[in-house]
Amino acid sequence: MSHVFHRNLRATLPKAVSASGIHIVDQHGKQYIDACGGAAVSCLGHNHPSVLAAMQEQMHKLDYAHTSFFTTDVAEELAELMVANGPQNMRKVYMVSSGSEAIEAALKMARQYFLERGEFKRTQFIARRQSYHGNTLGALAVGGNAWRREPFQPLLMDATHIAPCYAYRNQREDESAHGYGQRLVAELESEIVRLGPDTVIAVCMEPVVGATLGAVAAVEGYFQGVRRVCDKYGVLLIADEIMCGMGRTGTLYALEQEGVEADLITVAKGLGGGYQAIGAVLVSEKVANVFSSGSGQFMHGHTYIGHPVACAAALEVQKVLMREELVTHCAEMGPYLRDSLHQAFDANPFVGDIRGRGLFQAIELVQSREDKKPFDPRFKLNARIRDAAMDLGLMVYAMGGTIDGRLGDHILLAPPFTVSPAQVQEIVDKLQQAVQLATSSIPLSTAA
Ligand code: PMP
Repeated sequence: MSHVFHRNLRATLPKAVSASGIHIVDQHGKQYIDACGGAAVSCLGHNHPSVLAAMQEQMHKLDYAHTSFFTTDVAEELAELMVANGPQNMRKVYMVSSGSEAIEAALKMARQYFLERGEFKRTQFIARRQSYHGNTLGALAVGGNAWRREPFQPLLMDATHIAPCYAYRNQREDESAHGYGQRLVAELESEIVRLGPDTVIAVCMEPVVGATLGAVAAVEGYFQGVRRVCDKYGVLLIADEIMCGMGRTGTLYALEQEGVEADLITVAKGLGGGYQAIGAVLVSEKVANVFSSGSGQFMHGHTYIGHPVACAAALEVQKVLMREELVTHCAEMGPYLRDSLHQAFDANPFVGDIRGRGLFQAIELVQSREDKKPFDPRFKLNARIRDAAMDLGLMVYAMGGTIDGRLGDHILLAPPFTVSPAQVQEIVDKLQQAVQLATSSIPLSTAA
């Protein structure tokens, strides 16, 4: 009997015993192709020799030093590199140990930014429905995933939610993509006005929505409109790039492709590439200046922030990305993955949409393409596909639809940036088989 409190206490999981490149091997020697990088984490694949060497060297030099007492070369170098490679307005990096911690830090930093400025009434956050920002209570509060949030009410702080930018389901037939985006921007503005503009701290959004929608980018002009409205009311923009950032969409930051700068950017997953638990908040000059000319102290902190070994791993991951030009490779392989998905699924009536950016691509499953009706979530089609894929030796990130039909099951692919064309083909072939197996097992007469 296992004494690990697993995510699912009834599931029997294989044991991962080793990993190399794009593969993970279980206790029976079975090999799985990691087509989702875990949860879009493993951007370099597994067992990269130079990252392992950098971690080892750091461990021998300095294992740990608490950030109340010391800074370290490795933290300084990582921050310097992230600022140099980041959006132009970014000046500082606050390091944490996970995505949720990055969001918590960003929310508190945004709140304290206004306290420093004497704007005490600003207490509210706006985020979007069908979003995910992490599992700690503050992150859950801004997250817009009802299934995750509801059991924990009323512990959650105040946050309000507006519509996601999800053209496949919500763009009306009589409006252009641009018009749809601007309708949503108008909704954001109405929400700020409804709450009272001087009470709103920040808007928190994923530039490309990962876990809850499956690689959904906004329509053109949407984020420019969001930025415009935030500026009009003095509201901060927090870009949650925990899943979509660090090169995953073909540029180091996903928001770069929208031509917009955020005030705070949260990153994690691809920052350490899975080699260590590390996340960070990139802090703009605008926000950093208010802290440095104000109290000079962010009222926050954790024991492991700026951990030297985690910083060494993240620093080397960033250097490998640069040395091997992997973000460019990711941008080039994205269309290849997308085309392969089209070849495999264009004739499949159950695949309603294929979308994404870079090596962040997803398919959404529907009962019929005409009305985009999702399968009944009780059949857990996504889990059936994931299980069928695991049997075939393929790891994919599978998420569920909603009972009200606002979202279908979807399968997200986020392979390491090092993936080869032959491996892309293998991934898509296996996914095609898994979808075939899973959809043929569903009794359509009982679907939603
Ligand atoms: N934000 C986004 C966009 C995420 O995808 C995730 C993780 N899936 C998180 C926050 C939370 O990150 P973590 O699991 O590292 O706490």
